[in-house]
Amino acid sequence: MKHRLIIVVLLSFSILPLSADEFGWLAGTARTQITPTEPMWMAGYGSRDRPAEGTLHELWIRVLALQDASGRIGVVLSSDTLGIPQSIYTTTCRSLKEEFDLNPDQIMLHSSHTHTGPVLRGALYDVYPLDGEQHRMIEEYSNLLEDRIVRTVRDALANLAPAEIFAGQGLATFAVNRRNNSERDIRKLRRAGSLKGPVDHAVPVLAVRTAADKLLAVVFGYACHNTNLSFYQWSGDYAGFAQYALEDVHQDAVAMFYMGCGADQNPLPRRSVELARGYGLRLAAAVERVLAEPMQEIESDLRTQIEIVKLSFGKEPTRNELATLAAAGSTYRNRWAARLLNDVNNGKSLERTYPYPLQVWRLGQRQLWITMGGEVVVDYALGFKQQYGHDVWVAGYCNDVMAYIPSLRVLDEDKPPRSGYEGNTSMMVYGRGAERWADDVEELIAAGVDRMVYRLEAGTPNPSIAE
Ligand SMILES: [Zn+2]
Repeated sequence: MKHRLIIVVLLSFSILPLSADEFGWLAGTARTQITPTEPMWMAGYGSRDRPAEGTLHELWIRVLALQDASGRIGVVLSSDTLGIPQSIYTTTCRSLKEEFDLNPDQIMLHSSHTHTGPVLRGALYDVYPLDGEQHRMIEEYSNLLEDRIVRTVRDALANLAPAEIFAGQGLATFAVNRRNNSERDIRKLRRAGSLKGPVDHAVPVLAVRTAADKLLAVVFGYACHNTNLSFYQWSGDYAGFAQYALEDVHQDAVAMFYMGCGADQNPLPRRSVELARGYGLRLAAAVERVLAEPMQEIESDLRTQIEIVKLSFGKEPTRNELATLAAAGSTYRNRWAARLLNDVNNGKSLERTYPYPLQVWRLGQRQLWITMGGEVVVDYALGFKQQYGHDVWVAGYCNDVMAYIPSLRVLDEDKPPRSGYEGNTSMMVYGRGAERWADDVEELIAAGVDRMVYRLEAGTPNPSIAE
């Protein structure tokens, strides 16, 4: 309170320059509309048979830039996209390094996983029968998106001003474990209180307030597929509605959604604009409730770590297996096999590992924020909460979305005769070089996060930028 009083006085007379030293954090925001203007294909759902046909509401990228008292900067981006693919992540990080000297540990590129956004460069090409014209649109749009991300970060950095930041956590219960509950029976199961399977109903909230105690930004997460809508109009789905609802109430603020570990969670029942809007409003209400109650103030100290962990794929498909599958039909699975067979026949070896991004920030003395690439199942969030405390924030779908990331439990469940989606067939949707991750995927990820948390606690800089 004392701080705010001083700030108000300084702002009123504009005598002295403001600095993070005196006022804790500096924060700046910016947002840019990214709705495609051409009839591109939409990303998500293998059953789509044509490009987009209209717009329900606009798609956005939103950026929050933070600077702590020692001058360390962190940039958070939310996007109404299915996922930021590796090529866009890499290009963007390079540009942000060149222009602002930001390293990858300082950059979080989140995606909302809306299934009514555009196909992006290098992602999901086996899923849709894309022609040359569609490839051109995807390339042009992806270039434009990269430019807009850099421009929006530039704007947010230019807007840095004294701020205070706060952490809290709310609750929303519409996510259902889709592996354990039949979508057909969902209303009955919900009414009977007999939904099964692990879920993470937490709604983590980061609030950024100006020196005049006005909400500048609210960043919030939820672990649930953003898949109410499967029609042909651009939209941010329930997450888009939640962001719009919060920005409607807080006119000068940006509301930024990020996806948690919701790979095996669906918003159920679903498939109508009414339900998408309803879930969005429920999520916004959960955030509002947190904002209205006392939140934990975060000291002006930002620590950032990143690791690119090498994850291995499981058994390599043989030429015979690929040839058999390639000849068996014309679905995405057959197209996947045909493309890999072509690679093998041309002497190209199949990918056997993947450089997987893991990141941990510590805001203040204790608020951990773990981010993971890919479509991460809920077990990871629950495991990290058990290990690091229930108020840790865990994001999936961050910095690269290359595949599903099953836990060992899900991998084990998805062995024949059950070839489940999250642990098995989804690898073909993403065009990976094998049908499964190796069984040590969860172990390697947990060890990576552990190393980063250890370095954060020890005050060791990120190895990639250590001098
Ligand atoms: Zn998904």
